[in-house]
Amino acid sequence: MGQIHHNQHGARHTAALLVGGKSALTTQLMKPNYRRCVSCRQVAPKEAFWRVVRIHPGHQVQLDAGMGRSAYLCPQATCLKAAQKKNRLGQALRAAVPLELYQSLWQRLSPAPFADPQCPK
Ligand SMILES: [Zn+2]
Repeated sequence: MGQIHHNQHGARHTAALLVGGKSALTTQLMKPNYRRCVSCRQVAPKEAFWRVVRIHPGHQVQLDAGMGRSAYLCPQATCLKAAQKKNRLGQALRAAVPLELYQSLWQRLSPAPFADPQCPK
C-alpha cells in the first residue's frame, strides 16, 4: 500500500497579539497569589480580598468557597458600592449576582446596619 502522506507544514503561529502596551505595567505586579479588585483594580494578596465564586454547575454565585470562576473585591465600602452599582461582580463572573450576596457583604462591613435586634423595647 503506497499511501501518500499529506504533510501540512503551513501551520504558522499567529503573530503575538499586540495589546497596546497600556496595561503592561500593571501585569508586572501580578504575582502568583495576587488578585485584582473588580472595582478599583488594586492588586493585593488574595487573602486581602473577598472572593465571590460562580459555582460551575448551575451558575450559582456564592461567597468564599467553591470551584469555578471567581472575582475578588476589596473589603471596603467604596469598592462594594461600586461593584454593586456597576455590576462589576456580575460582569466579571458573567452571572447574575443575587442581592443577598451583596447584603451579606454589607453585613461584613457593618454587622448591624439596622437597629440592634437585641435591643429591648
Ligand atoms: Zn477595590
